[in-house]
Amino acid sequence: MALRFINTRTRQKEEFKSIDDGKVRMYTCGPTIYDFAHIGNFRAYVFEDLLRRYLKYRGYEVTQVMNLTDIDDKIIRSVKEQNIGLKDYTNQFKAAFFEDLDALGIERAEYYPAATDHIDEMVEMIQKLLTKGHAYKADGSVYFKISSFPQYGSLSHMKLEDLKAGARVAADEYEKDSVSDFALWKGWDEADGPVFWETPLGKGRPGWHIECSAMSTKYLGETFDINTGGVDNIFPHHENEIAQSECASGKTFANYWMHCEHLIVEGTKMSKSLGNFYTLRDITGKGYSPIAVRYLLLSTHYRQQLNFTFAGLDGAKAAVERLVDFRRNLQAVDGDTDSPEFPALLEQAYTGFQECLDDDLNASGALGEVFNFVKETNRLMADKKLSTSDAKQAVEAIDKFDTVIGVLPQAEESLDDDIQKLIDDRLAARQDKDFAKADSIRDQLLEMGIVLEDTAKGTVWKRKL
Ligand code: AMP
Ligand code: ZN
Repeated sequence: MALRFINTRTRQKEEFKSIDDGKVRMYTCGPTIYDFAHIGNFRAYVFEDLLRRYLKYRGYEVTQVMNLTDIDDKIIRSVKEQNIGLKDYTNQFKAAFFEDLDALGIERAEYYPAATDHIDEMVEMIQKLLTKGHAYKADGSVYFKISSFPQYGSLSHMKLEDLKAGARVAADEYEKDSVSDFALWKGWDEADGPVFWETPLGKGRPGWHIECSAMSTKYLGETFDINTGGVDNIFPHHENEIAQSECASGKTFANYWMHCEHLIVEGTKMSKSLGNFYTLRDITGKGYSPIAVRYLLLSTHYRQQLNFTFAGLDGAKAAVERLVDFRRNLQAVDGDTDSPEFPALLEQAYTGFQECLDDDLNASGALGEVFNFVKETNRLMADKKLSTSDAKQAVEAIDKFDTVIGVLPQAEESLDDDIQKLIDDRLAARQDKDFAKADSIRDQLLEMGIVLEDTAKGTVWKRKL
């Protein structure tokens, strides 16, 4: 079966064919670095990471660009309030963003262009749109003329007839029913204070939408394979990206559009403006591992809303622990006779995993296949029917699946000498029947994030999730 995705633009499930054989060029709408990202934002980035990792699993070489929006209405407000430089303000949140990406096991994209480093490219694209009659100047700003692009609305299914003659919006973010000309370039005014660029378009700053069109063209070309984001990006942001890019180049902008549904809290989108949000730091501060958050975010199909609860997070934590334990227990298997049942289980795991993810990234289905494999293999293990060779193949399969799931510890972690000494001391205390001492050492290790488990084969340890 071929790889298929639901394309937001056509609303159809389509077979995925890349422009260049074996290579995928994809764009991801990144964060506005004006604050810490919340876990709703990370749902989008984890979905895009799943997509990226699965494309690689299917043998594609991936070039991904994620923009960093370091200029917008909100950033300007904060810079003025705090009276600091634009980059000084945004750099702190950029650093925090990368820390969070790493904690969540999100692979790095190939490029992270920042909007303010690409003013020239944006100005050039706006000039092209002016020359071609798709943009006009008004009150020191430049607006995109949406009546000049009859396909406007093809992504969001907005109707161009709803366009009010002469209606214009200058704000970066605006209401869903606002079918209006939008700002490509905003002429400076008092509210912008110290934030402006002197360009052939005049003194001012770029609008939000033009940055993605200019930067994707620069790094991926005028037409690329996949553009991604959350569903709130569809209108107006992505609709406007299509209008700007296709009018400037005369070519299709992106062949596939994929959008993830929202992370919600009690039925409402998690968002900064509603105040119903958790940052990753809020959650790790409560003792949860970021990897449990990653699992929670990717385990629901990306096109379904995901209701955030701590009970759900506990479930995610247990699922990750199950995988980690499974892998560790397999490594301790010692048996000479291959199980006649095992090859079929292994085969089903590989084909089931791929069939699910091929079908529009059905991650919950793929995880179901993995856990079925875990359950059945555990059964063979418990009955001592698994051979060392079976177990080795099972580890290989889990490691291969984890190149997509991304929740297992990266490499066998070596214990610090101090920790090893504590484990040895505890063993000695137990041998001396000093159980109080042994228990207190176990507690001490627990505080250091190390969990011990006494098994028939001796004491094994793992990091607490
Ligand atoms: P923003 O910083 O608001 O531009 O959002 C960055 C990314 O997070 C975009 O792709 C949004 O679509 C996505 N996003 C924002 N809120 C949520 C949410 N509650 N659930 C899923 N994705 C979201
Ligand atoms: Zn964008």
